[in-house]
Amino acid sequence: MSTPTTQEPKWEQYASFSPKFEDKNHGKHTNGSPKELRRSVDYWFDDGNIILIVEETIFRVHTGVLSRRSEFFRLLFTIPQPEGAENRIEGCRTVTLADCLEDIEGMLLMIYDATPEIPAENIPPLERILSMLRMGTKYEIEAIKSVALKKLKGCFPSQLQNFPSSLQNDQASMEMGLVGAAKVVRIANEFGLYHLLPSAFLRLAMRHECQLVDCIDELSKDELKLVMVLGHILRSEQLKALTPLLLRTTHPDCESKDICQRAQTDIIQVLLASNSLVPIELFTPSNILFGEHTRWAGEADNSWSRVLCRHCRKLVISYREKAREEMWVKLGEHCGVEPWPPEQGISIPVL
Ligand SMILES: [Zn+2]
Repeated sequence: MSTPTTQEPKWEQYASFSPKFEDKNHGKHTNGSPKELRRSVDYWFDDGNIILIVEETIFRVHTGVLSRRSEFFRLLFTIPQPEGAENRIEGCRTVTLADCLEDIEGMLLMIYDATPEIPAENIPPLERILSMLRMGTKYEIEAIKSVALKKLKGCFPSQLQNFPSSLQNDQASMEMGLVGAAKVVRIANEFGLYHLLPSAFLRLAMRHECQLVDCIDELSKDELKLVMVLGHILRSEQLKALTPLLLRTTHPDCESKDICQRAQTDIIQVLLASNSLVPIELFTPSNILFGEHTRWAGEADNSWSRVLCRHCRKLVISYREKAREEMWVKLGEHCGVEPWPPEQGISIPVL
């Protein structure tokens, strides 16, 4: 996969001690251009000793608290600042940060207000997780970074057996969709989180090509090509999973070959009629093949007899498992991720 695009974050890129505001003329640039400054409602402490300036909002917070959580701020505050009222707001040193307001507010929320662990059932929306990853990495705040990584690993697992449930989590709380998966591809490359890529690409490949137009701005041409290639492989594997149905192969211990073969024909007909041979959804937990009390040929028909016997059902499941495993291996190969799948318990390297 491509090499990471970001360098090790350097504080000089993000923070500056250059005075832009002065105490006596609060709210105005020293060059005279007016700029309304707003105090943060949530993060303005009268006993704070450092002012963070972000866009047009000022935060009065504590060097001790920030230093305790962030290596970046700890080092920053050791650098002497020239004395002088022009460097200060309300007697406090100032630091101008080039981040967006939401990211800094999210970071301060995690530093001042959050519990160390967000409960698993309370997965924050993707944008929030990505903000935590950015802030945690840039400002070297391990607690924030590790929460973000854990959530991302949960949503984009590298173990096959965790992938189906990750789709359910997504539907329940992440509201991610196609654009979200594309954003994760970008973030995974940016932060060297390559083990997230196969799951993210698979989510993209599971959708119909015409839906990709929504995330065309998020993906490079090569990435779009990869999604297409993976889509073809996925469809091929999905067809392999259907082999016993297409060939009307019954299990050696089949309880009633006649009934099962009729059921196989019905199932294939239903799939063809609904044009769903493609989205058989190899990885979706419940589908037309294995749903409870599925009536293949329609309610009106005597369809109860057309369900596969338990042995033939097992046979279909075994083909499906094999197809899943093959798909998973090919995902890793095409995404250039090694080793794939990684051994369980190995932590994802972060740049
Ligand atoms: Zn059977």
